[in-house]
Amino acid sequence: MSARMADAGDERRRAELAANLAAVSARLEAAVADAGRASGEVTLLVVTKFFPADDVLRLIDLGCAEFGESREPEAGRKVAEVVAALDDSAPRPKFDMIGSVQRKKARSVARWARTVHSVDSAPLIDALGRGVTAALDAGERDSALNVLLQVSLDDDPLRGGVPVDGLAQLAEQVESADALRLGGLMAIAPQHGERERWLAKLARAHADVVAEYPAATTLSAGMSGDLDVAVKFGSTCVRVGTAILGDRPIP
Ligand SMILES: *Cc1c(COP(=O)(O)O)cnc(C)c1O
Repeated sequence: MSARMADAGDERRRAELAANLAAVSARLEAAVADAGRASGEVTLLVVTKFFPADDVLRLIDLGCAEFGESREPEAGRKVAEVVAALDDSAPRPKFDMIGSVQRKKARSVARWARTVHSVDSAPLIDALGRGVTAALDAGERDSALNVLLQVSLDDDPLRGGVPVDGLAQLAEQVESADALRLGGLMAIAPQHGERERWLAKLARAHADVVAEYPAATTLSAGMSGDLDVAVKFGSTCVRVGTAILGDRPIP
């Protein structure tokens, strides 16, 4: 990696990522402290969609270990490129799928994703169950897929997610699939209305799920613009792209 990354442009990019990462980490630490929570309770998932494998490698060098991607086949290719560039002895980074998954892509996502954050329908759960089983049989992964159910807080179909009253049924379906386990909930807070109100609604829905499934402790909420409020309302995983990598290139 050093040979192809040793030029001045690379040094600039590395410094930029380092500064952004330090700022976001400080912001996250402050939010956790303000919320009276313990440090280490909230995972920083770095969202690298649209950015190249070299940026992922720079961020690994800076200590990041968990990444979010949102599109196939971009994600699968990038994961393979990153893994190929790492020493065999280096710890393997984790990659999560955070964007909406088409059913026909379930099999390929099953090859690389530790967690899918954006599961919101019965047919998708079926497809992921089949895809993960096939990936396990083929030796392409060695553990069940961690599934987060995406909640729609305002029932807007465009942002994706299932309304709160549809969660119980999907949770049961995930739990009854051998290759899947229920990790918790995910949401993207609507831009309209009061953020606090949406996040409080999400926290209540999560408490109900945890009451039924005590292992479903993950609450994936908060992005560059609202990670601080999300931490106040119990987020255990913030998904941060722009504040670390900069504005995404236009696809
Ligand atoms: C792109 C994306 C993010 C990151 O958003 P930023 O505002 O760039 O931090 C988080 N969550 C999901 C689901 C995304 O698609």
